[in-house]
Amino acid sequence: MQISPDLMNTIMVALEVILALTGGFLAALWISLVIWTFRDIRSRTRDIFAQLLATLLVLVLNIPGLLLYLILRPPERLTEAYERALEEEALLQDIEERAVCPACKRQVEKDFILCPACHTPLKKRCPECGRVLQLRWTICPYCGAPQDGAGSGAEQAAPAEEYLHPQAPFDEEEMETAAWPASGSSSSFTSSED
Ligand SMILES: [Zn+2]
Ligand SMILES: [Zn+2]
Repeated sequence: MQISPDLMNTIMVALEVILALTGGFLAALWISLVIWTFRDIRSRTRDIFAQLLATLLVLVLNIPGLLLYLILRPPERLTEAYERALEEEALLQDIEERAVCPACKRQVEKDFILCPACHTPLKKRCPECGRVLQLRWTICPYCGAPQDGAGSGAEQAAPAEEYLHPQAPFDEEEMETAAWPASGSSSSFTSSED
């Protein structure tokens, strides 16, 4: 069976179009791979030399180059490494912040008064307000009560009184000013109504 030259021509043109499309697609794929590699390596290292090398590898060797890159690239992204460092730091801080018994070095909670293992006193309780205080504190920072073993009580109490006094009127004043606008406006409101 004879193929007419017209049909032959059509087939050739179709083949050319298919080849051109395939070539275009492959070129686009190639460029995309290079761009992807460049972006990927940039998110994994700040080393400019490594960035150039990885991009060149894929630019020259294409898909085999990409395979090599995928095998050799740094396993962790910079953001992942940063997050991991943050997590480790938080964990370390958590461990550091946990209190330890000075006698037996066992972990204790911050508000323990005694070590449950060796019964060493860790904190003391204020006899006035009952809050937990450091052993070395000579005065309760919550209620101002002088603590046992604070030396001469009078000397310690005097500055405490001075310290407390300016705060007490200030608190009252604050409460008054906070309460006044409401009562004042209501009274003026009622007076204007009358
Ligand atoms: Zn202990
Ligand atoms: Zn107290």
